[in-house]
Amino acid sequence: MEHITASEVAGFGVGTLLLCATIAAPKVDAFISASQRSSLGLCNRCGGLQVIACSSCRGTGLLKANGPFSFSLIDNLYRSEESKVKSVGCTKCQARGHFTCPDCSNTSTS
Ligand SMILES: [Zn+2]
Ligand SMILES: [Zn+2]
Repeated sequence: MEHITASEVAGFGVGTLLLCATIAAPKVDAFISASQRSSLGLCNRCGGLQVIACSSCRGTGLLKANGPFSFSLIDNLYRSEESKVKSVGCTKCQARGHFTCPDCSNTSTS
């Protein structure tokens, strides 16, 4: 009986280890990739690209103009005729779709 108990305990321990390894794997992978970038001299923020994609327009430089303006009278008049979704330039990135990486610009100017 003691042998069975011991193997059960061992199996439980191995299962717990595998579970922990599975949970910790993405974090360890992210940590290793970040450390690899820094060891290679690449920027942690942009990965050496020197630009960061805009989060508002997702790198397209355009935004869909269907926000609070859709309640205006003019929009109601043209609603059936014109396309509801209009694209406007992203104001966050000045329609470029990306920003210059602040970390890389700091290192280049210094
Ligand atoms: Zn943008
Ligand atoms: Zn950078």
